[in-house]
Amino acid sequence: MNEFELIEQCFAPLAGPEGLRLKDDTALYTPRDNCDLLITTDAFVEGVHFPSGMYGADVAERLLRTNLSDIAAKGGTPRGYLLSVTMHSEHMEKWLPAFAKGLETTQAEFGCTLWGGDTTATETQAVFSITLIGDVPKGQMVKRKGAALGDDVWVSGVLGDAMLGCHLAINQQISPAPNGQDLFSFENAYWRPEPSVRFQDILRKFATAAADISDGLLADAAHITAGEIGCATLNFDALPFSMGAENWAEAQDDPISARVDLASFGDDYGVVFTAHPSHRQVIFDVARDRKLKLTLVGSILPGSGSACVDVEGQIMPWPKTGYRHI
Ligand code: ADP
Ligand code: MG
Repeated sequence: MNEFELIEQCFAPLAGPEGLRLKDDTALYTPRDNCDLLITTDAFVEGVHFPSGMYGADVAERLLRTNLSDIAAKGGTPRGYLLSVTMHSEHMEKWLPAFAKGLETTQAEFGCTLWGGDTTATETQAVFSITLIGDVPKGQMVKRKGAALGDDVWVSGVLGDAMLGCHLAINQQISPAPNGQDLFSFENAYWRPEPSVRFQDILRKFATAAADISDGLLADAAHITAGEIGCATLNFDALPFSMGAENWAEAQDDPISARVDLASFGDDYGVVFTAHPSHRQVIFDVARDRKLKLTLVGSILPGSGSACVDVEGQIMPWPKTGYRHI
C-alpha cells in the first residue's frame, strides 16, 4: 500500500468536514463567533516517549489525550487536529490501522476530528506529532499567569497513578504487585490520562490561573507563580492519591518519600489551578454535583516558586523539579 492509500484507508475516515476529506492542501476552518482559538502541539518520539514495539492504539490515545489536556486546562473546547506521522515505511501498513483506531475512539469521546497532516517515511525511529486546535469564549482563556497572593490552590484528579502505570509499561512490574483493579487503573492512568474537560466552565468562571500537570505537581504549580507573585504552598497531607497508590506507598520502606515520588513524577494530566477563597464553597459544591475529584491542596503565600509543607508547616525536601523533556 502506498502513502496515499494508507491515508485514505486509516485517516480519511477520521476527518471532519474541515479536513476536506484529506484531499486538499490545507484544512478550512471557520472560527465560531466570539471565540479565541487555542493551539497546542505535542510530539511523541519512539524510545523517548514510548517504548519501541508499543501497541499503536495506546500510543495514539495517549498522544491525543496529552494535547487535549492542554486545551482543557485553558478552559477551552477541542475542535480539530493535524497529525504528523514519521516512521519506517515497512512498519506503516502493520502499525497504522491500530494507531488510527486509538485516534478514532479518543476523538469520538472528546468531540474533535482530524483536519489534515503529513506522512513521511524514514529509516530512523518513529515520531508522531499532533497539533490540536480548540476554542474558548473571547478573552476567557485561563492563563498560567493571573494568580494572586492568598488564592487557594486546587488540583484535579489524583497524583502518581500514571507514575505506577509508566513503571508497569517499562518494567512490566511494580512491587508489591497491584491487584487486578489497581493494575488496570494504573495502566489506564498512564495510557489514557483523563483531560479535565468536565469543568472548563468552572475554570473559566473561577480560576485565576491554571496549568495541566505534565511535569510534576510542584514544577507545574511553580509555572503559575512564575511572575514572583508568591509561593504556591501545598500541604503534603492534602495531596490526592488513589487508594491503590496509597497502598503501594505504604508498602515501601519509606512511605513518605514514596508519596513524594508519586506527586513529583508528572504525566498525571490533571489541572492545578488557583481561585479566590471566596469561591471555595461553590467549587466544592460543583465538584460534588458533577462527581469530580477536585482537591484543595494549599494556597499562594508570600515567597516565590512552589513548596510542599508537612503538618508542622516545615518545607519538605523535594526532587529538583519535574520532568524536563530534553
Ligand atoms: P502536501 O504535499 O500538499 O503538503 P500531502 O500530499 O502531504 O500534501 O497530503 C495530502 C493530503 O493528505 C493533505 O490534505 C494532508 O492534510 C493529508 N494527510 C497527509 N498525511 C496525513 C496524516 N498523517 N494524517 C492526516 N492527514 C494527512
Ligand atoms: Mg500541497
